[in-house]
Amino acid sequence: MELRLISKKNEQDKKIISCKNLVIGDGSLVVIAGPCSVESREQIFKTAEFVKGQGANVLRGGAYKPRTSPYSFQGLGEEGLKLLREAGDTFQLPVISEIMDTREVELINGYVDILQIGSRNMQNYSLLKEVGRLKKPVLLKRGMAASLEDWLMAAEYIASEGNDNIILCERGIKTFESYTRNTLDLSAVPLIKSMSALPIIVDPSHGTGLRSLILPMSKASIAAGADGVMVEVHPIPEEALSDGFQSLNFREFKDLMEKIKPLHQYLNQ
Ligand code: PEP
Ligand code: MN
Repeated sequence: MELRLISKKNEQDKKIISCKNLVIGDGSLVVIAGPCSVESREQIFKTAEFVKGQGANVLRGGAYKPRTSPYSFQGLGEEGLKLLREAGDTFQLPVISEIMDTREVELINGYVDILQIGSRNMQNYSLLKEVGRLKKPVLLKRGMAASLEDWLMAAEYIASEGNDNIILCERGIKTFESYTRNTLDLSAVPLIKSMSALPIIVDPSHGTGLRSLILPMSKASIAAGADGVMVEVHPIPEEALSDGFQSLNFREFKDLMEKIKPLHQYLNQ
């Protein structure tokens, strides 16, 4: 595999990404939390306030959603981005949202602090090159059928345009197992860390599709050496317009934070 820009040159080689007062890749634990989709002002503000209070570092919320069915909720579009930005500013949280189309780059870039490239677009090379021309951090999710080489080469596309502020995100791959939505490949974490200097986080919400697995798989991700986790959180998951079944409610998110913070501290002392 020919990695030119994102390879690990020596044992200590780490790409540290700074974004406002957030630092990713320096050994600290980063928690990205928020709803699958921004649904309303009340929903995103309540969530932002709660996750901030529990120590989350970044607020997530999709405004342009890649849904399996064209008849499912597609996101609030620019209105969703505005609400996400306002909530992030109000509670001092940098914000991340997904970008699906090269035509949306300018618009979304105007609202978010981190640009998310979703699983379905990991090999959308025009989109990768487009975000590669920006300076802003890019969270690159693993394609659901992508090998580590496919994934790292996709990151190399972004870096080759000049932007090496890339955070990798393991979010599960398709296997024959159907009990879980995806099979969360945690071996990717130490493997990627041995090959690349880029930080890597894990998304156990999409990675498993089961709320009950978010806590154990977050712990496992941290034990495997991940730089952080991204979890879906909703004030009332049962009423969510997307992915409620894999979203934590506030009580569950509080419990998650209370368990993963000391674990990270213990493992990194
Ligand atoms: C998401 O994080 O909102 C999302 C759609 O995830 P993925 O691209 O991993 O399916
Ligand atoms: Mn989702």
